[in-house]
Amino acid sequence: MVNMGHFQRVREHLEGARQEMIDLQRELVARVAVGPDNGGPGEGEKAKFLLTLLQSWGLRVDNYPAPDDRLGPDGRPNLVAWLPGQKAEKVWVLSHLDVVPPGDLSLWHSDPFTLRVEGERLYGRGTEDNHHGLVASLMAVKALLALNLTPIRTVGLALVSDEETGSQKGLGHLLRIKRELFSDRDLIIVPDAGNSDGTMIEVAEKSLLWLRLTLQGQQCHASRPQSGKNTLRACGHVIVALEALPQEFSHQDPLFQPPHSTFEPTMKEANVPNINTIPGRDVFYLDCRVLPQYDLKQVIDRVTVLAQETAQRFGVALTVEAVQALESPPPTSPEAPVVKALQRGVRAVYRRPAIPQGIGGGTVAALFRQAGLPAAVWMTVSDTAHQPNEFTSLNKLVGDAQVLAHVFLEQES
Ligand SMILES: [Zn+2]
Repeated sequence: MVNMGHFQRVREHLEGARQEMIDLQRELVARVAVGPDNGGPGEGEKAKFLLTLLQSWGLRVDNYPAPDDRLGPDGRPNLVAWLPGQKAEKVWVLSHLDVVPPGDLSLWHSDPFTLRVEGERLYGRGTEDNHHGLVASLMAVKALLALNLTPIRTVGLALVSDEETGSQKGLGHLLRIKRELFSDRDLIIVPDAGNSDGTMIEVAEKSLLWLRLTLQGQQCHASRPQSGKNTLRACGHVIVALEALPQEFSHQDPLFQPPHSTFEPTMKEANVPNINTIPGRDVFYLDCRVLPQYDLKQVIDRVTVLAQETAQRFGVALTVEAVQALESPPPTSPEAPVVKALQRGVRAVYRRPAIPQGIGGGTVAALFRQAGLPAAVWMTVSDTAHQPNEFTSLNKLVGDAQVLAHVFLEQES
């Protein structure tokens, strides 16, 4: 149950907050929060700005920095801002401070770290990933403050570091040193993925497996192939042999998009630099997204057997190594209160039904789920994260802030 009068006032307030959203995006984009793993200065400047801002609104803000040798004594900031509610139970919105590097600058139509506004689009590195979630949640809180409305549950805004490079100095750190902040009765929302009309609520992830396959043969002159063992030809046949994997791991689960496990050859390391040499060593990678019922060990074993049998036919040795293996944690139930609350919010704002779904993996929500905390990933995306000319939509920003405000104001029966 939401007090419709209150919600209506918040909606109108947020409609009128567009310029403020643009200004906040401009400040955030200008503070380059690329993590040190990606050669950047870290999240310090951006966190300092947000700490001051949130305190100026009258919010209590705690910081749980993670030490990082590469940075100064301030380390990697992890802020938690509190808006007290009528109840001690919490609703969390977790967004991340860090952004990925801009990549090839020649692909950008403007400076990635200067906000560019074009119509209702806001361009700049980080505008979508993750300033969209960050700005939407901050503005929802600010709307309640401006209208003197107290949320039902206490709102916790978590602004964490290191999401783009493993989260160990972000949410991982927070869960290690301050697990008691979170309860499995809290509503935990991670606005960091979704679909373009806000109707996808991510509740489950496939297991992720990255494999490196190394083929070792014999390099020689291309005019005398009989004196070598061509690893590139073997490589091609190995890739074809691995096409058997989808049939061997054929289970389907309609919760996921796509509903089956996937096994994609992706990166190929360079072999020889010239055309007239037969390569004697080739390395390629397989990106596997595996439904949770399969053990990743089974997958590694089958890849090894299929690939080695094939390579042997060419007299080539082959090894398989796991570069990354993340067994997916138990999903958040599609019936979880956080899912239901988001569904009601999306219905109220966008007039559409939102559907709980599984994805290919890779959100920070996996850490919550590993810790037994039911988290839902949701936002309305423009699908430009990590790309040149990243942008977000001002209309979606307003809408998503309204959905979050609906969750904050809702009295659960
Ligand atoms: Zn993100």
